[in-house]
Amino acid sequence: MAQVSALPRQHQHDPLRELGIVALNGMFDEMDALGVLQHAATQILPGDMAIVSSFGADSAVLLHLVSEVDKNMPIYFLETGKHFTETLAYVETLKQRLGLTNVIPIYPSSEDLARFDPDGTLWETDPDSCCHIRKTEPLEPITEQFGGWVTGRKRYQTAERGVLPHFELTSDDRIKINPLAYFSDADVAAYKAEHDLPEHPLYAHGYKSIGCAPCTSAVGEGEDPRAGRWRGFNKRECGIHFDFNGAIASPMQANKRTIFKDGTFKPDPFKEWTDETDPAAARYVHIPLTVFVEHREAFLKTQHPLGLLVSPGERIEDVEADLDRFSSIAVNFPAFTDGRGYSTARLSRERYKFAGEIRAVGDVLADQIPLMRRCGIDSFVVTHEPTRKALSEGRLAEVDIFYQPTGAAEIPVGTRPYLRRAG
Ligand code: SF4
Repeated sequence: MAQVSALPRQHQHDPLRELGIVALNGMFDEMDALGVLQHAATQILPGDMAIVSSFGADSAVLLHLVSEVDKNMPIYFLETGKHFTETLAYVETLKQRLGLTNVIPIYPSSEDLARFDPDGTLWETDPDSCCHIRKTEPLEPITEQFGGWVTGRKRYQTAERGVLPHFELTSDDRIKINPLAYFSDADVAAYKAEHDLPEHPLYAHGYKSIGCAPCTSAVGEGEDPRAGRWRGFNKRECGIHFDFNGAIASPMQANKRTIFKDGTFKPDPFKEWTDETDPAAARYVHIPLTVFVEHREAFLKTQHPLGLLVSPGERIEDVEADLDRFSSIAVNFPAFTDGRGYSTARLSRERYKFAGEIRAVGDVLADQIPLMRRCGIDSFVVTHEPTRKALSEGRLAEVDIFYQPTGAAEIPVGTRPYLRRAG
């Protein structure tokens, strides 16, 4: 039997591991779904794999397979707060019927909901951001905990999946197991019938693909099963599908930029500002301060999360009254020698009590970061490779102790909410 041991996190892509995956696919090409899953759970990733399930119309087959292999395998359910009551009931039905003992709901951050979706209607105006807050963000820290993930993807579903193998090595060196890769639509139906699996209660009412209640409608005869998802929106995926290499893909992460925040590099939900950005449609961008002042009325009409970009020569005082509108302030440090950004950060924190994210962008170097932190900057967009390395290896001291207070507003350690680390 080919062996591919559990993967250590954060290592270089190992060509031997890739060869191991190729060998596995050759050996298991003819293997049935249960055999594939069984081998993964017992030989490749014992105790180190999990599954995310929507408990939608198509979930019962994979969950049944999981129950045959290991009833205690972690099954994560994204409890977005927007599900049909029928879906929540179906979770319980499948748990009971299949004897699943480790279904774990994961929830969006209450802080994100309060900030970005206080009245719960973000899905109407900005479903990408709603999915990002309610699905992608809560899932990301979970995926890092496991060496492998089981998916229900099948070859017949899309052209890109036409060559889907049973085992994949993802771009972040995890193993993705696709036991149903070779299943056809008819195979799914036959499996359900053979094992007498309960249907989602809404399936009989024309709901063939089921997600959150506000974004799901029934489909008509002959319609694509997914046509009822985000009907009327130019949106097809929820943001937690996987990119070509199997890593989590998110519409909000299309630029692949990362930000150093809370002690780790993470995907940056914000995009670069461009002059083509329509103020009425702006979201997750840092608006240059002068542009914001010029088009203030238009920007203030949007419901989307916004950021503010402050460059040397621009005065944060000019937008004092609107600072609450921003979830993030980006302070631009275009050159190592230009220190005006420190004053911007301190004014924002100390005079205006800005409680959101303050990030440093531009020429951010290791030597500057301790002082930036003292000024209230809590996040860093870093392109300088040695600085990125120092941060990721934890070689830059956190500023937990203030040897020299920076002014009357210096506050003892532990009382600055923006300096507290998550978790
Ligand atoms: S499916 Fe709709 S309600 Fe659910 S998270 Fe996405 S946009 Fe929000």
